[in-house]
Amino acid sequence: MATVTLTDITKIYDGGVKAVDKANIIINDREFVVFVGPSGCGKSTTLRMIAGLEDITEGELRIDDKLVNDVPPKDRDIAMVFQNYALYPHMTVYDNMAFGLKIRKFPKDEIDQRVREAAKILDIEELLERKPKALSGGQRQRVAVGRAIVRKPKVFLFDEPLSNLDAKLRVQMRAEISGLHNRLKATMIYVTHDQVEALTMADKIVVMKLGLIQQIGGPLELYNEP
Ligand code: ADP
Ligand code: ADP
Repeated sequence: MATVTLTDITKIYDGGVKAVDKANIIINDREFVVFVGPSGCGKSTTLRMIAGLEDITEGELRIDDKLVNDVPPKDRDIAMVFQNYALYPHMTVYDNMAFGLKIRKFPKDEIDQRVREAAKILDIEELLERKPKALSGGQRQRVAVGRAIVRKPKVFLFDEPLSNLDAKLRVQMRAEISGLHNRLKATMIYVTHDQVEALTMADKIVVMKLGLIQQIGGPLELYNEP
């Protein structure tokens, strides 16, 4: 179970930019919610606040019934996949995937089992001993997703995960991430500026503009309007 609730969430950066203005959203357990909108509208900032990577200026963030505004990122039951993959270049694929579990003091055999299971799901078992620089863009993104999967979080966050991939791979990875959502039965929150991605992947779409939520609805509701 993981419901994520934003109540009047506001972010004002040092210097005064109001990036998010009183956002109210309920993301239900196991829902796939996509945030869309033009560059600079506040999508990333919203996601980063949910991850705990950015302080919340005002408002309340809850995971299930727990207020988490002041809970550090590593203590939130959340894993995030970044646009630039954010892999450690000096570590192998295996170690990149294992790292988040190591710092949380998981036993070695549990780590090994989880890494191999995730590698199997993502079809990267052959790549475990490679370093990131010896991988293609699509393979790197799979590793980044793998690093999130091994944690078995209740909530996955994706920040424009496919925007560095070519068009063909993007279509393929969309389907793979949707497949993962069905398989893992987790809550997924996904940020993109690509309306097609939103349309094809989302249960619910949140449209943002200039820090404000303009609309929330299902793909059909939002895009079949006359
Ligand atoms: P999006 O993800 O939709 O492109 P962002 O959340 O990155 O939008 O940015 C929203 C607004 O906040 C923009 O005006 C951006 O310039 C500003 N912003 C983002 N990060 C920072 C920061 N660290 N410091 C100051 N302003 C920021
Ligand atoms: P995105 O569009 O995916 O948010 P950006 O290239 O806008 O990516 O931002 C990259 C990083 O720079 C993010 O960590 C964001 O918070 C930060 N950033 C964005 N805009 C500003 C800004 N105006 N001032 C300082 N940092 C910013």
